[in-house]
This record gives sequence, C-alpha cells and structure tokens, in this order.
Amino acid sequence: MYKRLDEADIRFLKEVTESSRVLSGEEISEDYCHDELGGVRSKPDALVKVLSTEEVAAIMKYANEHRIPVVARGSGTGLVGAGVALEHGIMLDFTGMNKILELDERNLTITVQPGVLLMDLAAYCEGNGFLYPPDPGEKSATIGGNIATNAGGMRAVKYGVTRDYVRGLTVVMPDGTVERLGGKTVKNSTGYNLLGLIPGSEGTLCVITEAILRLLPLPEVTVSLLVPFPSMEKAIETVPELIRSKASLVAIEFMENATILFSEEYLGKKFPDRSAPAYLLLSVDGNDVDEVNAEIEKVAELCIRQGAMDALYVDTPERKEAVWNARGAFLEAIKGSTDEMDECDVVVPRDRIAEFIEYVHEVIRETGLRIEYFGHAGDGNLHIYLCRDRKPEEEWLASKGKAFDLLYAKAEECRGLVSGEHGIGYAKKGYMQKSVSPYQLRLMRAIKDDFDPNHILNPGKVVE
Ligand SMILES: Cc1cc2nc3c(=O)[nH]c(=O)nc-3n(C[C@H](O)[C@H](O)[C@H](O)COP(=O)(O)OP(=O)(O)OC[C@H]3O[C@@H](n4cnc5c(N)ncnc54)[C@H](O)[C@@H]3O)c2cc1C
Repeated sequence: MYKRLDEADIRFLKEVTESSRVLSGEEISEDYCHDELGGVRSKPDALVKVLSTEEVAAIMKYANEHRIPVVARGSGTGLVGAGVALEHGIMLDFTGMNKILELDERNLTITVQPGVLLMDLAAYCEGNGFLYPPDPGEKSATIGGNIATNAGGMRAVKYGVTRDYVRGLTVVMPDGTVERLGGKTVKNSTGYNLLGLIPGSEGTLCVITEAILRLLPLPEVTVSLLVPFPSMEKAIETVPELIRSKASLVAIEFMENATILFSEEYLGKKFPDRSAPAYLLLSVDGNDVDEVNAEIEKVAELCIRQGAMDALYVDTPERKEAVWNARGAFLEAIKGSTDEMDECDVVVPRDRIAEFIEYVHEVIRETGLRIEYFGHAGDGNLHIYLCRDRKPEEEWLASKGKAFDLLYAKAEECRGLVSGEHGIGYAKKGYMQKSVSPYQLRLMRAIKDDFDPNHILNPGKVVE
C-alpha cells in the first residue's frame, strides 16, 4: 500500500532541505525506532531534521503524491507507540525547530516552534513572570508532542490540560497546504472547532509547525503538603472531600510507599517521609502568602479529620525539590524495577477512584502480576504499570492481556475512558476502538479520511 523510499526520494529530501539533515539506513540511530514505551519497533526509511514550515510543506506534498508515510517526531518520550514509523517512510524530526518566536505580553500569548522543550518553555515563561500551566511529568518532551498527545500532568486539577492553552496553530496538511487555525483571540465561535481537533490527534491529521499558546500571570506563592495516610483507601476517600471543600488545589497526587522506595533507589535520594503506606501530595498557589497559607491549613485540617496521620509542609526549596523530583521520577523508577512493563492510563470520575484502585488489587490476585500504580487523584487519572518480572513471553502476554481486559472493562463500568493522558497511538487503539460507539468511531474515521485521504500521516495509529 505504501511506497518504500528509494534513492530518488532521498535525493529529493536532500534537495528541499540539506544533505546533512537527511539520514537513511544505518545512519538512523536505534533511538528513532521506538518511543519510551519500547514495545513496538520499526525503522523509518529516512529521518529528516526539518527547520521550517516551508520544508515540511514541500516534503508533505511529495510524500502525498508518492504515497509515502510520514511520522512527526518530537523527543520520542511518548508511551503508546504513537511516534514510531510502523510503515517506515519519512520521519520528520522537529527537535531542531526549537525557537521561542514571540512573547506577547499584551495578549498573554507565546508563539513557539514545535520542537521547543517543555522545560525550556516553562523556564522562559517563569523568568518573564508568566505561567504556562500544563505540567506533564516528562519535561524533555517537545511542545509539538505535548499538543499532539494533549498532554496532561500534575496541575490539571486547577488549570486543565495542554488543549486548554492552545490558542492557534500553524499546521501542514498531508497534501502540503499550510493552514493557520485559531490565533491570538480569546474567543472563537467561528464555525466548527477545527483547532480543537488537533490536540490529541497524535500526528494523524496534520503536522504542527508553530503554536500560539495562552499564558497566565505567574502566581507569587506555591505551597505543597505531603499527607501520610494509614491506608490507600483512607487517602483516596479524602479526595472527593477535598474537592467538595472548594479548596483551590492545583494538584492532588496519590502514591504508595512502594513507589516512593523505587524512586529513592532510582534517584539515590531520600524522600522526606516514609512512615506511611500511602500519601497524598497536594499543592495550592496564589498571590497572597497569607491567603495561600490559610488555604493550605484548611486543607491540612480536613485531611487530619479524614484520618491522615500527619500533614507535612513542603515549603523549603530542599523539601520541594526532594518531593517533586521523586514524584517526577515514579514512572522511570518503576520501569527500573523490572525487565519490561506495560501501562494503562485510564481516567475515571473522581468519586470512583477508590473503587477502581480496589479493583486493581483484584486484578493482581487474578493475574498473579506485580502491578504498581500512582496517579493524579484530583482528576481521576491513574497510571497503572504491569511489571513482567522475567516471566516467560507466553505467560507475560497472556497475563497482561487478561489484566488489560479487566482494567478497561472496569473503567467502562465506572463511566471512565481508555486514556486520560498519553493518548492512544498504537498500543491502546484496540481498546479505544472497542470503547467508543460504532457511530463515534465512524465519525472519527471520517475525520481522518477527510484530513488525510491517502492515509499517509502516521499510519496504524488511533483509528486505523
Ligand atoms: C517519565 C515520563 C513521564 C511522562 N509524564 C506524562 C504526563 O504527566 N502527562 C502526559 O500527558 N504525558 C506524559 N508522558 C508522555 C510523553 O512525555 C508525552 O506524550 C509527550 O507529550 C510526548 O512528547 P514528545 O515530544 O516526546 O513526542 P513524541 O513521543 O516524539 O511523539 C508523540 C506523538 O506526537 C506526535 N508529534 C510530535 N511532534 C509533532 C508535531 N510537530 N506535529 C504533529 N504531531 C507531532 C507524534 O507523531 C506522536 O504521535 C510521560 C513520559 C515519560 C517518559
């Protein structure tokens, strides 16, 4: 169905870019054959380090005419195999398009190229007194990747996710047409929300070459609270009460003692407390120190009333670093504890998290797998990791298949969704396609057909 690249195609790519920016065959490093998930591998025929919208447009037009698949690539930190060139073809590496183009203080927007790293954007914004609120765990991901996967992260409770901060996009359509969607306006009720289709589309509809992002003023103070609980049940049962209390919480994360130990071992750094089986990590921000302190005190008192063993203020820079760095390393730390793992990132209504976690323990009993988990209790998004622990291939595949079936069925029963963040990509497409109605799946496929009639963009993902 798709054309494999030959010498003439490589020559074309070098002509529209530069020889040194087009790699093929053995020149392409193994890193570009998989993403952070690692479970699915395939090599592109050519890797092109693009530098401009014009280059991308010329390549897309050529690829469309020749039925060559194209996969956009950021930092490759995705966790669902979305950035892997399953059908080979051309991989567009966006990491060289990494310029911050404009900080517009009068419109509270920032315009960036897609290869800007989240950590660089966050630091730049903070340095200028602004907050770019989306805060997914992997700071070395690109903004293009964050938009394409609608990345979530730890501040979603108060501030929402990447989609909520995308005001405008410059995109290249599969036939090479350059389109500008949205812009710097705050409002937009101009027809169907085409801009809104792009965050979360995982490079299957168009490729992003520029983004206008919305900023907020940087809050003056952020205070966190680490709350040990005698059990995970007690910790999770507190979450709906926290939400009901109307406290203005930025983050509500939950974690088990075991995860903290993995992270200590992984980072070689001590966590401030290890006395309890389960913890909530909460944070509040604002501009008035007294107000923020009063709010966090109210939250601490509520937690204690709910059965918390203590409420530890994470106020010094050292404590902040110890706690949030540990939290940021959980995924990598669990990964380091086993030879292979697979993950499930369901999202359920916040008042069903306790029920879901209880069910995870049932799945552990039924499958015999070691399953670790942590997550964003404040938005109902769980990160559940199935660990292989050197099981023979057949046994691993059978038990993880069974565990996934059980977990996704339970998510559906809880009126949850297959993916709260990380997306669908290759790894979750079967579960996503089963979970939506045939009518909705037909609509999704019709959108894909209209955007990309030749299906050259990121084949084998999401709805294919
Ligand atoms: C330790 C760790 C923690 C993580 N924490 C979180 C988290 O808290 N929240 C969360 O949401 N995710 C998280 N992730 C997942 C991952 O970081 C995100 O999915 C991230 O958005 C991927 O960005 P990337 O630049 O690495 O994209 P890649 O992995 O390179 O690509 C991801 C997808 O985006 C598409 N894409 C990339 N650039 C473009 C472009 N310019 N135009 C069109 N499509 C494009 C690709 O085709 C692919 O489909 C985590 C990952 C790790 C390893």
